[in-house]
Amino acid sequence: MSNYYQQEIETASRDEIIRIQNEKLVKQVRHVYDKVPYYRNLMDQKGVKPEDIKTIEDIHKLPFLSKSDLRDAYPYGLLGTDLGNCVRIQSTSGTTGRRVVAFYTQGDVDLWEECCARAIMAVGGTNEDVVQVAYGYGLFTGGAGLHGGSHKVGSLTLPMSSGNTERQIQFMMDLGATILCATPSYAAYLGESLAERGYKPEDNKLKAGIFGAEPWTEEMRRSIEKSLGIKAYDIYGLTEISGPGVAFECEEQKGMHINEDHFYAEVIDPDTEEVLPEGSVGELVFTCLDKEAFPLLRYRTRDICVLTREKCSCGRTHVRMSKPKGRSDDMLIIRGVNVFPSQIETVLLNQGYAPNYQIEVDRKNNTDTLDVYVEFPTEMFSDKVSDVQKKEAALEAAMRSMLGIGAKVHLVLPKTITRSEGKAVRVIDKRKLHD
Ligand code: ADP
Ligand code: ZN
Repeated sequence: MSNYYQQEIETASRDEIIRIQNEKLVKQVRHVYDKVPYYRNLMDQKGVKPEDIKTIEDIHKLPFLSKSDLRDAYPYGLLGTDLGNCVRIQSTSGTTGRRVVAFYTQGDVDLWEECCARAIMAVGGTNEDVVQVAYGYGLFTGGAGLHGGSHKVGSLTLPMSSGNTERQIQFMMDLGATILCATPSYAAYLGESLAERGYKPEDNKLKAGIFGAEPWTEEMRRSIEKSLGIKAYDIYGLTEISGPGVAFECEEQKGMHINEDHFYAEVIDPDTEEVLPEGSVGELVFTCLDKEAFPLLRYRTRDICVLTREKCSCGRTHVRMSKPKGRSDDMLIIRGVNVFPSQIETVLLNQGYAPNYQIEVDRKNNTDTLDVYVEFPTEMFSDKVSDVQKKEAALEAAMRSMLGIGAKVHLVLPKTITRSEGKAVRVIDKRKLHD
């Protein structure tokens, strides 16, 4: 039996959802046109007026927004309300080098926290739970979002923030944390650190984890589930649209339900900007249907995924998105071939390695090079040169069949790759330094 935070809307009929989306979109477009000159100009250039938007079907008439618009309009150019009505600022972690500042009214904060509360209840959270929030607090949205969601559910909230692994473990064990919220890479590190201290997975009271903010593979999910003895759920979001909780996984663990009473999702072809039918792989685009302070319309996320409206056994009716493969900016083009870091992670974990790796791309003599550094797991460790070479060759063969191009694999000593407390930095692209 599923747990819902807002059952009525989470399980509303498709007709009801569309009715809500129609009503909110018409109102929102009128509001943005009146209040945000930057977007009004884009609409005028495209020759579209608020009265042209009568239902959600008309959304394709609206212009897109992208990260470069956010930069151009920085900091206040996309504000949808007077600054006096805003109560909060959050900012992106700058993974792709461009920081974005987003604003929230109290209504926006409530809406966002409710989305996070839906996510917590979807993994079985109740007021009996102890929720350890090990996402960073501060400008980053991870900590604030899950913290607020946990309060709304009425759980006992442990505002740990990221890092200080010793204290995380002590509080987790002493206070009996039952739900852990963190980046998947930090969750993996906590699992590893617990084992090093002699704890077995059944020694902790955790039952579930809510992990997101960075791409992670199914293999990584299984590895975390094993090391912590929990079920690991995905959560997705981005600062521009609010933060974590834009979409979240239910007990089915088959895609994340998008909170589409607030955020309308489309998938487009990133080159032609054509809207693609359900089931196609493409770039995810969001329209904030009722946010006040930062009401982005048709915002291009650069995240690549697939949408499905197939019925979900949890009872939720909201559209689901697949795990994003990574952003279009994360995709590496190596010797003309598209490579996602997640493909490399899949190979490594399938071969029994831990998710401690780093990818280095460079260009030597006009040819791209791909080097993968991965730690020897302690139990597999060997200093015999022939053993090392054999293992490297096996990984290289598996990489070639997954990626279609060759990679040079380097096994390195246990504990030599830096552990991440927030979003992991998996790729160093030295080509960018030369260009
Ligand atoms: P930054 O762009 O600095 O990383 P954010 O902290 O707002 O800023 O991160 C949002 C981005 O993080 C998303 O656009 C997406 O690329 C990534 N992301 C968030 N959650 C997930 C997830 N569950 N799986 C994969 N990627 C995710
Ligand atoms: Zn579901």
